[in-house]
Amino acid sequence: MKNTSVKFIFITGGVVSSLGKGLASASLGALLQARGYSVKLRKLDPYLNVDPGTMSPYQHGECYVTDDGAETDLDLGHYERFTGVPAKKSDNITTGKIYSNVIAKERRGDYLGATIQVIPHVTDSIKEYILSDINDEDFILCEIGGTVGDIESLPFIEAIRQLGNELGLSQTCFLHVTLLPYIKTAGELKTKPTQHSVKELQGMGIQPDLLLCRTEDSIPNEQKSKIALFCNLKPESVIEALDSSSIYEVPISYHKQGLDEEICKHFNIDLSKKIDLSRWNKIKEIQRSSDGNVNIGIVGKYTSLIDAYKSLIEAVNHGGLDNNVKVTIKWVNSESLEDQNLNLINFFKDINGIIVPGGFGERGSEGKINAIKYARLNNIPFFGICFGMQMAVIEFARNVLNMKDASSSEFGTTKLPLVGLLTEWQTKTGLEKRDKESDLGGTMRLGAYDCKLLDNSFVSSIYKKKIISERHRHRYEVNNKYISDFKKYGLLFSGMSPDNSLPEILEVPKHPWFIGVQFHPELKSKPFDPHPLFSSFINASLKQSRLL
Ligand code: GLN
Repeated sequence: MKNTSVKFIFITGGVVSSLGKGLASASLGALLQARGYSVKLRKLDPYLNVDPGTMSPYQHGECYVTDDGAETDLDLGHYERFTGVPAKKSDNITTGKIYSNVIAKERRGDYLGATIQVIPHVTDSIKEYILSDINDEDFILCEIGGTVGDIESLPFIEAIRQLGNELGLSQTCFLHVTLLPYIKTAGELKTKPTQHSVKELQGMGIQPDLLLCRTEDSIPNEQKSKIALFCNLKPESVIEALDSSSIYEVPISYHKQGLDEEICKHFNIDLSKKIDLSRWNKIKEIQRSSDGNVNIGIVGKYTSLIDAYKSLIEAVNHGGLDNNVKVTIKWVNSESLEDQNLNLINFFKDINGIIVPGGFGERGSEGKINAIKYARLNNIPFFGICFGMQMAVIEFARNVLNMKDASSSEFGTTKLPLVGLLTEWQTKTGLEKRDKESDLGGTMRLGAYDCKLLDNSFVSSIYKKKIISERHRHRYEVNNKYISDFKKYGLLFSGMSPDNSLPEILEVPKHPWFIGVQFHPELKSKPFDPHPLFSSFINASLKQSRLL
């Protein structure tokens, strides 16, 4: 580690999962930035997958893709949205990654005959990852996935305990996020689960420095003192984390409760420097003053777990912020739209814009194609993302170019693979090749790639640029053989890879707003820097709502 004065904040969770540790970490990162410090946020995930790329979105929610092509946990999306610091491959570590590394070293003979054990070999490898790729950041925030007490997280807890010991109090801080359940019949917030969870941590050698207590109701001072007494802390170190109506109000709310101040006190940091929360106050103001509402229909397969569309939901909201309107999302399960005889007006009559997001596999695809046809024929703004773009090409080919067999080879052998397996593509470092037999994990076209925009196209007027860079995650690609046929019938490929081989963006100039993109623009949108495509799409949807 080159930077020897960097400070580490380790964030653990207790009592239950889904406490919003990711958001808490992201908000703390934002607050430290607002105090003028540079931050990097990391997630240590105890599961055995090497990365979440192969996990079902139904189980694990969205897979967040970084510029450098890593498939990571969705919390990295929160980190990037709140701090604007681009997440990197090195910011998400899993047990699978650690063990692969340790076992590869053992096979190479690097351990010189030693017996390989969890302590010290696995914990050393975890520490190595935590300390790697650190430049001039002031703070590294490391969130440990799962809940304290899980078997899987033990090596991670042990590794951070060791780091606390090695680097000392001046360089490490342990923040524990817990829950204070409210028991209606007793009319009280209960502190016992928090006491037990802290005891569990102490049993593993970690004394938390700060507690962030999630609660529906304000914590009375007497309860704070009780928690402090039982958990070996000062009452000021017990911080209230009240539920918030918008995630973007969380940084301000945690600041009011003294989270960043207590962190600074822990590290003996001068508190006289003023904090600049203008970015967050501005967002709060826009949210409170928003005028009007836009209804956006999202037609997808994973609508039973909306975490599968985390970044998309946020990007749509950012588009709303930029247009000063509230966005209401209506989830439409694509499988419910499969029947060709359905009258889609029943699904979409009050919808002002339709999004078909990324997806995998044949199930529900005909429903997506039907929704796209409806949007195209009824002049409803349409935004197709990755799989959504591929389905838009198939819809247009079948219904406008009369290519009735048009399909994707993702769905099996087809007579007309308009969307086919991507077998080779150019990267900055050379040619990547794939075939049907390639592994599924980590082998898609992943991460940031440049895309050239066609002069005078609609997308170039939205981006106001000639070359853009966006993040990808796909195995299939639109066949470039038919580009001129599509053009003749009014569908333009207005964004191409720099070598002209891969269609990256499509648009239908005659339609009020019909755009499909092979990449995932939602991954780069931020509340304080909304993505231009989402701003423009919400703007078009707003115009559409005024026509109704
Ligand atoms: N399943 C499609 C592919 O692999 C689209 C992927 C996506 O939407 N991210 O190309």
